[in-house]
Amino acid sequence: MGSKYLPRSVKVVSNKIESADTFSIVLDWKIKHDPGQFVQISIPGIGEAPISIASYSKKHIQLTIRKVGNVTNSLSKLKKGDRVFVRGPYGSGYPLEEVKGKDVIFIGGGCGVAPLKGGIEYLEKYRKHFGEVFLFVGYRSPGDILFEDKHDDWKKDFHLFVSVDKLPSKTCYSGNVGFITELVENQKFTAKNKVVFMCGPPIMMEKTIEILKKKGIKEDQIYVSSERLMYCAFGLCCHCMIEGKLTCLDGPVFKLSEVKNF
Ligand SMILES: Cc1cc2nc3c(=O)[nH]c(=O)nc-3n(C[C@H](O)[C@H](O)[C@H](O)COP(=O)(O)OP(=O)(O)OC[C@H]3O[C@@H](n4cnc5c(N)ncnc54)[C@H](O)[C@@H]3O)c2cc1C
Repeated sequence: MGSKYLPRSVKVVSNKIESADTFSIVLDWKIKHDPGQFVQISIPGIGEAPISIASYSKKHIQLTIRKVGNVTNSLSKLKKGDRVFVRGPYGSGYPLEEVKGKDVIFIGGGCGVAPLKGGIEYLEKYRKHFGEVFLFVGYRSPGDILFEDKHDDWKKDFHLFVSVDKLPSKTCYSGNVGFITELVENQKFTAKNKVVFMCGPPIMMEKTIEILKKKGIKEDQIYVSSERLMYCAFGLCCHCMIEGKLTCLDGPVFKLSEVKNF
C-alpha cells in the first residue's frame, strides 16, 4: 500500500523496443488506476518524469516512453529484474464510466497513442457497455507504428484506421499513407451520441478538432490530453497550470469546452 505521494521501488518485468525511439516497460506494480492517469517514474541521480499508463490491468502497469532526454534515455536501458521508483497514479483520466452507452472515437498521433491504449484496453474489457468504437492512429513512418501486435485484436472489436505520414524509399508497406486527419475527415460518422478522446502533437489535435467541428461534433464531446511540463504532480508547484486548471490534478485529460490552450 503506502502513500501515492511517496516513491516506491518496483521491479521491471520487461522492456520491449517498440520503434527506433520508443520502448515499453512493464512494471510489477498492482495499483488501482483509471485509464488516462499517469505516474511519476524516477531513477535516483538522474531525475523523474511524468508518464501515462499505457495499459489497463490489475496485474501490472505498462509505460510506453519516447527517448527525448536524460530520464527517458536512462529508463530505456532498464532490464528485466532492475528496480525503478514510481509514485502515483495521478490526474483524472478518461471518464469512460460516464460515457457508457456512447460511440467512442480515439484519435492518437505518435507517442500519444500510448495513453489512449489504456482506454482501449478498458473498452476491450467492457466492450458491451459501449456503442461503435473507432480508433484512428497516425505515425510518421511505418517504423514508428506502435502496438502493431495488438492491431488484429483491436480490429475484432473496433473500427481501426492506421496511417503513416510518409513512406521512406525502399519501405515495404501496404497500409494507408497520409495524415491521420485525412482518414478522420473521410469517415462518415454523425455527431450524435459520440465522444472523442484525443492525444498527440498539438498541430494534429488542432487540425482534427477543426474536422470534427465540421462534422457537427461539439466541444463538450471532445476530450484532449495535455502533456504540460510538471514537477510535483499533486497540485503544489503549479508548473502545469493551463487557464487556471492544473494538468496534474484537473487533467491531463480535459474537455475541450474547458481548456483551449492544451
Ligand atoms: C501527464 C504527462 C504524461 C506524459 N506521458 C508520456 C508518455 O506516456 N510517454 C512519453 O514518452 N512521454 C510522456 N510525457 C512526456 C514526458 O514526461 C517527457 O518526455 C519527459 O519528462 C522528458 O524527460 P527527459 O529527462 O527524458 O527529457 P528532458 O531532458 O527533460 O527534455 C528533453 C526535451 O524535451 C522537452 N520536454 C520534456 N518534457 C516535455 C513536455 N512535457 N512537454 C514538452 N516538452 C518537453 C524539454 O524541454 C527538452 O527540450 C508525459 C508528460 C506529461 C506531463
